[in-house]
Order: sequence, then C-alpha cells, then structure tokens
Amino acid sequence: MGELGAHVLVIPFPTQGHINPILQFSKRLASKGVKVTIVATTLMSKSLPQLQKAAAASIQVDCISDGYNPDDNFSTVDECLARFNDVVPQTLTQLIVDKHLNSDHPPTVLIYDSVFPWAVDIAKNLGLLSAVFYTQSCSVCAIFYHFTQANLKIPSTHESSFSLDLPPLPALPSLKVTDLPSFIVESTESNPNIFQLVSSQFYSFGKADWIFFNSFDKLEEEVINWVLETKWAVKTIGPTVPSMYLDKKMEDDTEYGLSLFSPSTESCMHWLDSRGKSGSVVYVAFGSLASLGEDQMEEIAQGLKNTNAPFLWVVRASEEGKLPSWFKEETLEKGLVVNWCPQLDVLAHQAVGCFVTHCGWNSTLEALSLGVPMVAIPQWSDQMTNTKYVVDVWKVGVRVKVNNENGFFNRDEIEVCIKQVMEEGDEGNGHKIRQNALKWKKLAIEAVDQGGSSDTNIQEFVSTISLLNTQQGVDLY
Ligand code: UDP
Repeated sequence: MGELGAHVLVIPFPTQGHINPILQFSKRLASKGVKVTIVATTLMSKSLPQLQKAAAASIQVDCISDGYNPDDNFSTVDECLARFNDVVPQTLTQLIVDKHLNSDHPPTVLIYDSVFPWAVDIAKNLGLLSAVFYTQSCSVCAIFYHFTQANLKIPSTHESSFSLDLPPLPALPSLKVTDLPSFIVESTESNPNIFQLVSSQFYSFGKADWIFFNSFDKLEEEVINWVLETKWAVKTIGPTVPSMYLDKKMEDDTEYGLSLFSPSTESCMHWLDSRGKSGSVVYVAFGSLASLGEDQMEEIAQGLKNTNAPFLWVVRASEEGKLPSWFKEETLEKGLVVNWCPQLDVLAHQAVGCFVTHCGWNSTLEALSLGVPMVAIPQWSDQMTNTKYVVDVWKVGVRVKVNNENGFFNRDEIEVCIKQVMEEGDEGNGHKIRQNALKWKKLAIEAVDQGGSSDTNIQEFVSTISLLNTQQGVDLY
C-alpha cells in the first residue's frame, strides 16, 4: 500500500433504502484503510451534518446539485430519476474534474448506485475505474435479465392471470407471476423511467470493473453460482447491516447514522422495554416509500387489533391521515404508533416476535440478520420476489394472501398470518420459521465476519485498489 491508502468516490441515490447500504459499504472500506469521499446531492443536503457525523473521520463528504433545492421533496421515484439523469452527470463530472483529479490524493475508483448506469462512462472518460453497487438481490437481477435481455415474456394469453406458473428459469425457484418484480408485470407507462432503468442496469455489467451486491453467498447460492458460471463476476459484500448488530468488529458502527426521517427513538425503546415478554410484540413497518390505501390501512388496523398482541406500527407522517379514526384510542393499551423508528434497534429488541413488512430489500436483510420472522405484505418493485424467497426458499415467514382480482388483503388474513408466525410451542410452522430465522442470522454474521465470504470479497477489492494506487501514474495512467 502506498503512503496514502487508495481513494474511492461513492455516489448514492438519495432514498433511505439506497443510502443505507452504500454508506455501510463505505464504512467497511474505510475500516480497511481506504479513503472514501461520498458524493451527496442537494436532496440529501439537509442531512449532511448527520452524514458527516455518521461517516468515520476517514470519510469525506462532497455535495453536488441534483436539480432540486434542499427543501424540495420529489413526488415519485420516477420523477426523481428523470431529474437526476438530466443534471447529475454534469455536476458529478465537474466535481471530479475541478476538485479531485489534480488533487494530492486523486481517486482510483468511482463506486456508483446501479440506478446511475451512465456513471460507468464518466469514470472511463476521466480515467477512473468503476464499481457498480446493487441494492437489490442477485435473484431479482437475474429475473430482470431474463425479461429484459433474454426476451422472456409473460405469456400474453394469461397476462391478467397472476397465479400463472412461469416456465422454469435457471437457478431460480419456481415462480408465479405474483413473484415477479412489479416493473415486469406493470405496464411500462406507469413508471417509464424506472422501466427504462431496469433494462439499462445491464449496461454496467459489460463495462464496470467490479459488480457488488448487497447480499451474501449462502443466501443466494444457486443463483450466484449461475451468474458467476455463465455471466458476470459479481461479488457479494453484505448484509450491510451495521457491524455491532453482526460481527461486532467495528465498535463505532452502531447505526446507519443517516436518517431522512426523524425516529422516535426514546418512546419506541422505552415502550419496548416495558413489554415484559420476550417475542410478544408485532412490529409493523413498510419502509420509506410504500403508500397503502385507506381501506388497506383499515384492514391492518383491524387485523392487528384482533390478534390481541402488543404492536409497534410505523406510519409515516404522510400516511397518518389514512389511519382509521377509532384506532389510536381503541388500541392505546396495546399499541404504539410512530412516524419513524430506529428499525435495527427495534428488530434487535428481545420483545419483538415478528415483523410485518413490505419486504424492501434492506428490511428483509435486517430481519434475516437479526433473526426476526416475517409476515410479508409486498407492495411493488422487488418486494414480491423478496417475499417469495422469505417464504419458500429461506422459510422465515409467511405471505399475506391477496384477492387476485384487486390485489387487496383482508383483516382475517392479517390476523391468521401473525398468529401463525407468533404461535408458541416447539412444533408447528411458527416454530420452524423461528428456527430457520436463527439459522440465517448465524449465516449472515459468518458472511461479514473476518474471513467470511463478504469480508473476503471486500478485502480483495481493497487489496487490488491499494496495489493499483501504489502504481498510479506508472502502469495505469
Ligand atoms: N427504516 C427505519 N425506520 C423505520 C422504517 C424503516 O430506520 O421506521 C429503515 C430500515 O431499517 C431500512 C430502510 O429504512 O434500512 C428501508 O429500506 P427498505 O429497502 O426496506 O425499503 P424502502 O424504504 O426502500 O422501500
């Protein structure tokens, strides 16, 4: 290694589910001696002091424009992506040229979120190496491959038949249309930029020097082996859950550190501490983006109430108006509703017995890492496929059944699923699910611990870029 360790630039996409994993990956790199500069964009600028604090001393933060003002909110991810694609290629290039290329410690690699496929060309044009970072599972990526690159189609005669079995796909479990990422099933008109993005993410595969997935080898063994044998040299580096919840090797790494929402930490933890019984609480949260209809909120509310179990329900401020008017008062004794919580602390709390989740990839990995059984209510994007794995492959949860005509679930189904997962005793499905959850927790820790598959992949990356760094100006440039 040269006197100065290698330097990497990291550009995240500014939604909570994309920032968390790439920031954690950055911390792991920094812990291995790499200098990291995170390139934040104006949408994140209000959180910059937090980011600065969260990122270790060896991580620096630069900010560029993404076309939004700091106080703006974007209305849809689709709109946000369109604005980013217009503005960020220029502002990122300008930052690298003006500030970094001729600095005392120029970067070697640009690490970019897979939603920015154009970043690989910026890196190449400026003489940097490139690493694409996927915040979805490898299985989801393989499915996108079949549908966008290998021309697989949902048979047209059955387009509305959600329960249809698809033909077998290599290294994937048998899938129904309901298990596919929503962007494949929905018309391209509803989310044109996202659909375009799904196809364009394969652009990076032929071009980027490294392909990282927030996953771990044992979790997706079959599909990862298939991808490695037939397609691309992907590397798993996850789960990107803070170290103190997993291998406990990085003492300062106790939380993600950057929250775009304000968590009610004290009231949540105090409330959980006051629940006596271990594994008795139902935790309900649907991540940072999902938006349920009023009628579906009502079904969850009724279902939760009918279980008679204590519950902690995260309802974002923007969703709160959809809660039934009777709910808070009638469930005061049993439940706590907050706008945002410290999810990792909640999942790690001994009082929590099950997680009613939308199965966003981060939430899924967090539940797996902390050994918490899941009741899955997927909403869109990759959540349907994550659910398929949760239920049928890893066997750590159940899926709430919906009406095939309108996609709605009802209160009875919510109640039955929660009771199934929480049922006491050493027999039955609940017991098996809890045993499996503990098995995956152990494997997740093994993957990131020293010498585990993800740790080895990160170490190899660090060794390679450190070597290149010492040769910079000699062999490479
Ligand atoms: N999260 C949190 N507090 C909450 C709800 C969610 O800290 O009350 C975090 C959660 O731990 C996860 C992220 O927000 O890291 C959500 O990411 P995910 O991929 O699960 O869903 P998305 O928000 O992208 O739909």
